[in-house]
Amino acid sequence: MKDNASPKQTSSAESADDVIERDKRFVWHPYTQHSTEAEPTVIARAKGASLFDAEGREILDLISSWWTCTHGHSHPKINAALAAQAEQLEHVMFAGFTHATAVNVAEKLAGLLPGDLNRVFFSDDGSTSVEVAIKIAYQSWVNRGETRRSTLVAFDGGYHGDTLGAMSVGRSSQMFGAFKDLLCQVCILPYPATFEGDDAADERDACALSAFEALLADRRDSIAALIIEPLMQGSAGMRFCRPSFLKRLVELAQSAGVIVIFDEVATGFGRTGTLFALEQAGVVPDLVCLSKGLTAGYMPLAATVARDRLFEMFLGPSFDRALPHGHSFTANPLACAVALAALGLYEEEQTMARIAQIHARHRAMLDVLAARPDVTRPRVLGAVLAFEVQEGGQYQSEASRKLRAWYLAHGFNIRPIGSTVYLMPPYCITDEELSRAYTGMIEGLDQLASGAL
Ligand code: PLP
Repeated sequence: MKDNASPKQTSSAESADDVIERDKRFVWHPYTQHSTEAEPTVIARAKGASLFDAEGREILDLISSWWTCTHGHSHPKINAALAAQAEQLEHVMFAGFTHATAVNVAEKLAGLLPGDLNRVFFSDDGSTSVEVAIKIAYQSWVNRGETRRSTLVAFDGGYHGDTLGAMSVGRSSQMFGAFKDLLCQVCILPYPATFEGDDAADERDACALSAFEALLADRRDSIAALIIEPLMQGSAGMRFCRPSFLKRLVELAQSAGVIVIFDEVATGFGRTGTLFALEQAGVVPDLVCLSKGLTAGYMPLAATVARDRLFEMFLGPSFDRALPHGHSFTANPLACAVALAALGLYEEEQTMARIAQIHARHRAMLDVLAARPDVTRPRVLGAVLAFEVQEGGQYQSEASRKLRAWYLAHGFNIRPIGSTVYLMPPYCITDEELSRAYTGMIEGLDQLASGAL
């Protein structure tokens, strides 16, 4: 027997060092260079907008734990729904079987999304929801006998996850150089990132749209689908685009028969000020990818929602036309129960009204930020506040690492992406906590500007 065969039970503050020692020995963390990264923080519990480390120190979760947490950590109503579901049915395979909780989530999502976005395919996380969307789009052409439609169109800086299809459409994110020879064919369009007071926004929109028009003129019949993070590229550094751009883009794509995929994995469930970003553009994409906030950040669950007419293309007498995709935990009942409770809270707790209040508080910070010589491009979208600091650079640049470390040491989970500093708090954050967050955020910038970091 190896000496690690009986893992110790750890939960108390005294055992934090031990957790870290064993973490160093046995765990491989995501997006982490283990040679240079500081020791991880052991989190013992979480409540509302706060995480608590093993010593009980509070850390305000101002990026909602990788943008997942919506209503707050350990919400009593979601906890109760999870416990009740565990008593009833923890899991059942989802081919040949179904259960009311999954059906309720699917029906609810179909009701919340516009038009005939009615068919919900469940998977496990944002990346798999994108894989499913790409596969549905591509196979829908194959099922129609159109085998030349194999090119995907995506945007410069777009990020859609870490599986192979998702990496392909996110290839310009500069994260995936090592895999470039494995990725599939993708045309990349310029992304018209904009900000408060941007006087070149019209020009940028026109440039991106005419690049797409040129591509359509050249290769319309070989394009299977276009994918975009609507209104906000998250991983590229909270880069916003305008609803009018999105609307025109979708019109162009759909009138050329190109399938439009909206990756709302980060933008969904209120982040941009509406429940879904697509509402602001007034469009109905063909496929919508959802995850993260779907379960309020509790559990891995994703949904790829398709328009009825896409679903119908998979019907037929033989299995050949069916979608060959599924996961062991497809539509896991525990995750679905959590999703249902989380969706119910938007009405019960008037969450969209709270998001509007957070938005107003963020907007009031814009002048403060604009007055700083070290800040550029301050911007707000829904509950997201973002800006650039001049000393920044690549993902995990020196400045962003220093800032992240300072913020963490002072009780804030703020992780700049390259030169982009941003706040994306859980919606339950109180006014007092928001004030604390702004003060801390500015103090960190002062420290960086003074060279003290
Ligand atoms: N799509 C978008 C827009 C994302 O922001 C992310 C993750 O941040 C993903 C997809 C991938 O989601 P996951 O990390 O759950 O696989």
